[in-house]
Amino acid sequence: MSPLLSQKRRLAIQKKVDELTKKYKNATPFEIAAFLGIVCKFKNLPEGINAYSIYEKSIIYISDRFKENSYSAKIVCAHELGHLLLQAHSGTFEYNFTLYRNSATKDGMLEYEANIFAALLMPQITQGRDPFSYHPEKLYRCLNDKIF
Ligand SMILES: [Zn+2]
Repeated sequence: MSPLLSQKRRLAIQKKVDELTKKYKNATPFEIAAFLGIVCKFKNLPEGINAYSIYEKSIIYISDRFKENSYSAKIVCAHELGHLLLQAHSGTFEYNFTLYRNSATKDGMLEYEANIFAALLMPQITQGRDPFSYHPEKLYRCLNDKIF
């Protein structure tokens, strides 16, 4: 059980994912994005930045390093969807490892939530284990190890 998220927040994240998986059965994160009118684009991004998204524009930019690897791209896309769908306020989010590392900060919490969202949407990331039971750092590594 996550010590960092309140019960209320955990339920809200779970509910969001349940709604999506019920409505868009077996859809990939890219397909879910398309259903929701969120545009996903591959783009040349600096080393160390996997993706970022802009809430106002409903757009996700993913590094074109992942173009050839759809599994990595799906994970990164799912993470960005988490930002857009859970943290519904304006802003630009980056999938940024260094931000994530300190889960005590607000940015770290946002990254943690996006990772939780991605792992709920793609249970293979944690091999079906409950992502809420993972320490934020461990969950981060779990995602990151699968991105190449
Ligand atoms: Zn992020």
